[in-house]
Amino acid sequence: MNGFASLNAALAARDLAHVWHPCTQMREHAGELPLVPIVRGDGAWLIDAEGKRYLDGISSWWSNLFGHANPRIAAAIAEQAARLNHVMLAGFTHEPALQLAEELVRIAPTGLTRVAYASDGASAVEIALKMSFHYWRNVGRPERTRFIALANAYHGETLGALSVSDLPLYRAVYGPLLFDPIVAPSPDWLDAEPGESPDDVARRRLGDLRALLERRARDTCAVIIEPLVQCSGGMRMHSPAYLAGLRELCDEFEVHLIADEIAVGFGRTGTLFACEQASISPDFLCLSKGLTGGALPLSAVLTTDEVYRAFLGDYAANNAFLHSHTFSGNPIACAAALASLAIFREQPVLERIHGLSTRLAVRIQPLRDHPHVAGIRQTGLIAAFDLVADKCANAAYAGSERRGRRFYRRALERGVLLRPLGDTVYFLPPYCIHDSDIDQMVDVAIEAIDVATA
Ligand SMILES: *Cc1c(COP(=O)(O)O)cnc(C)c1O
Repeated sequence: MNGFASLNAALAARDLAHVWHPCTQMREHAGELPLVPIVRGDGAWLIDAEGKRYLDGISSWWSNLFGHANPRIAAAIAEQAARLNHVMLAGFTHEPALQLAEELVRIAPTGLTRVAYASDGASAVEIALKMSFHYWRNVGRPERTRFIALANAYHGETLGALSVSDLPLYRAVYGPLLFDPIVAPSPDWLDAEPGESPDDVARRRLGDLRALLERRARDTCAVIIEPLVQCSGGMRMHSPAYLAGLRELCDEFEVHLIADEIAVGFGRTGTLFACEQASISPDFLCLSKGLTGGALPLSAVLTTDEVYRAFLGDYAANNAFLHSHTFSGNPIACAAALASLAIFREQPVLERIHGLSTRLAVRIQPLRDHPHVAGIRQTGLIAAFDLVADKCANAAYAGSERRGRRFYRRALERGVLLRPLGDTVYFLPPYCIHDSDIDQMVDVAIEAIDVATA
């Protein structure tokens, strides 16, 4: 065996002896699907044990903003680690946690003045759900126990977050363990009737939501939404008009609005936060993924003074929010987030995202004529389309054909990491990607589409 070429295989074999990977049918790694051992990151690129480079076209699950091993974020992490690794945030505080809270409040939509930390996206969603529920108890409305979630939503894998998610692939098995939300139709613009614009779809879906609220608002705590793009649900997009109307409905019916910007926050949709495109402030804003520039796990829930005040009182009244995670507000993770936000402050990041988005839009244009590509869509630096068996008849491939996985394998062979959601291919690159990398990413994708749909 070639000693060099076996480096990847050797690491993969050791891994497969013990590591249980997320979101993976482990048996497939024993077969023909290679597990890729990464030893180094360099900007938009990942480098495996044999020196092969992969362009990270999906920002490692939508978390990376300014490149792998970004020197500035790495230095902030090292400096903080040498000073203070961790101290529990109950009864103690530290500069990184308070400074990050100040900074988040400064940049977030107005009115969000209180910051609770957690470690992952799903735990931020849990906090938002529990806080909203607990708020209504504290203000004397204990009959409010339900949540409204959108069809095709995704909010994470823990039981509460999964409860308000609507993807059968992840949810169905655990159904008996979950609570049931009230499901409102998604404003996804791909569901447009003939002649409808994205704004028309938004208006129609707001009508549906109003009807739901008229019946159910009395026992509803909050509506939870992924603003502008339902990412895990297949990069399904909607008009900002829906968010604007949703805010009005939530005000009218006195229910909270939870904006899960875990995937779309920090510039991904072209504005720092997606909610800005509708000029709204939610009652709860969930952030994670890009919060640390993708370097470390950290999440935050921002909320209002009004919510915060409802939890003040005598300890015995049991109206405090006693939820905790051991590593809430971890100093190293907060230092990474501060370094990432400093890059936003000091560099024209949003302009750069705009330029990259335009480039991506132009480069994917030719796919419009591809017989097996449908539903091309883009919001900011997220572009997606679906691989279809027959575009004219709007016929999907049978799931068992695993066309998306064929695409993944081919692109990976050619040094580009693009991991479709089923048969939905998407581009979601880090902001440090170069124009020439975008060209290469799309060229490889076009060839991989031909291989996958042959
Ligand atoms: C990824 C994601 C989550 C869950 O975050 P984790 O860190 O994976 O727990 C929640 N909501 C949205 C919109 C996400 O994309």
